[in-house]
Amino acid sequence: MNRSAHQAISALTGIATLVAFDKQPGKQSIAHNPVIATSLATLGGMLPDILEPSSLGPHHRRFFHSFVSMGLVGYGVYKAYKWEPQTELDKCLRIAVIMIGVGYLSHLIADSSTPRGLPII
Ligand SMILES: [Zn+2]
Repeated sequence: MNRSAHQAISALTGIATLVAFDKQPGKQSIAHNPVIATSLATLGGMLPDILEPSSLGPHHRRFFHSFVSMGLVGYGVYKAYKWEPQTELDKCLRIAVIMIGVGYLSHLIADSSTPRGLPII
């Protein structure tokens, strides 16, 4: 899947995430700004191919494209979602982790739907 497709998918995922499941008033921060949040999600969506560029060849999908890393990132997003941050910095950090995480996940889910799929590890 190409870069702009991943960027579009991760940006949409970021917006959907922001709209859908983060309305708790105590957890809002400046990073809930849609532009910032979407940028973070887009960055997350580019991360797997930054870590393992497709220029390495058709078999570039390794650990950072694997189902194991999908599970680890998913767990991280879940922990961040459950976190009750106290300071403004922590609130920003929390949403940054969630946004980068969902962007990353959107990349792996999109890649898993291609014929080549994803490795387990
Ligand atoms: Zn990829």
